[in-house]
Amino acid sequence: MKPFRHFDADSVEEALALLTEFGGKARVTAGGTDLLGVLKSEILADYPEAVINLKTISGLDGIEAGAGEVRIGALVRLSDIADSPVVKKNCPALALSAASVGSPELRNMGTIGGNLCQDTRCWYYRYPDKMGGRVPCYRKGKGPCHAIRGDNRYHAVLGGRKCYAVCPSDPATALAALEAGVKTVRPAGERTIPLADFYDTLGPVLEPDELVTGIRIPTPAANAVQRFSKFRLRESVDFAVVSVAAVLDMSEGVCRDARIVLGAVAPVPYRAVAAEDVVRGGPLDERQAARAAEAALREAKPMSGNAYKVEIAKTLVKRALRL
Ligand SMILES: Cc1cc2nc3c(=O)[nH]c(=O)nc-3n(C[C@H](O)[C@H](O)[C@H](O)COP(=O)(O)OP(=O)(O)OC[C@H]3O[C@@H](n4cnc5c(N)ncnc54)[C@H](O)[C@@H]3O)c2cc1C
Repeated sequence: MKPFRHFDADSVEEALALLTEFGGKARVTAGGTDLLGVLKSEILADYPEAVINLKTISGLDGIEAGAGEVRIGALVRLSDIADSPVVKKNCPALALSAASVGSPELRNMGTIGGNLCQDTRCWYYRYPDKMGGRVPCYRKGKGPCHAIRGDNRYHAVLGGRKCYAVCPSDPATALAALEAGVKTVRPAGERTIPLADFYDTLGPVLEPDELVTGIRIPTPAANAVQRFSKFRLRESVDFAVVSVAAVLDMSEGVCRDARIVLGAVAPVPYRAVAAEDVVRGGPLDERQAARAAEAALREAKPMSGNAYKVEIAKTLVKRALRL
């Protein structure tokens, strides 16, 4: 790794001041499980001069519920989300998604803020600089997306255009279905970004001087059915090939409202609005589930090597709607 300066921030204010001082040439780190790999592979356009450790800041590691929402600090570890009675009771889809991430070691180090901000796993983008030379691409600011003509088995089947890398975060899929908001802070002030708007094709929409401080989830209705499932090649430690999260407001056997989100099929968590329209307002049975699955993937445009993802996604949607 190239040398960089390292700071343990004592407060959010200190972290923001350091980000300002280094003028875009600093990166923050929490668990470091993603950032250190990114730095070792030297894939960033600008290698940071400073790395600012957020884990030394107190007060960002709590989980609480009240006043119609569940609040989770940015530094809460994924293992704590997976095990939290508050999360399991109110947002079981989120608990399941956190439990599905990587390995116990990764969940014990990785934080929810870092998970949402992690860089994509596209193998062209991540190709280590030192192994045969840099692979420039659209995401790195220069060149085409190599997935279009290359091996695209793990790339987007929906919503890709100039970059077909998929959003790698499992919790983001669940949080989108839960209509969560991401709380952030900059020297200029605070804002809450709906999870649905938190990503664009190239990743999180954060400004270089912006920090995630927490997640806000409106408390789902007590009768809401929540689902999260993930298909991966290795059951032990692996990113999703496809994941699905669903939140279904059921009353007297009728689906009053539905939010269905697909993960790892698009550059952003993909809200399957057409599938929601199919199930909203009626009972949920096998026929409706099959129709919803078809509707969810109607816009899919698979490339040469990833049509199998469409079939897997349809199966996961059907299973999620099987009550
Ligand atoms: C082998 C392996 C398997 C994995 N499998 C999965 C998986 O199945 N599902 C999945 O979802 N993930 C998976 N991951 C990714 C893993 O979940 C992330 O590495 C982890 O969640 C990142 O959290 P962190 O706290 O370590 O982030 P860091 O590595 O510290 O940071 C990651 C990025 O987020 C930024 N960042 C961190 N905190 C903040 C903040 N508060 N505000 C603004 N920016 C911030 C950093 O600057 C950096 O760019 C896997 C990773 C590995 C190495």
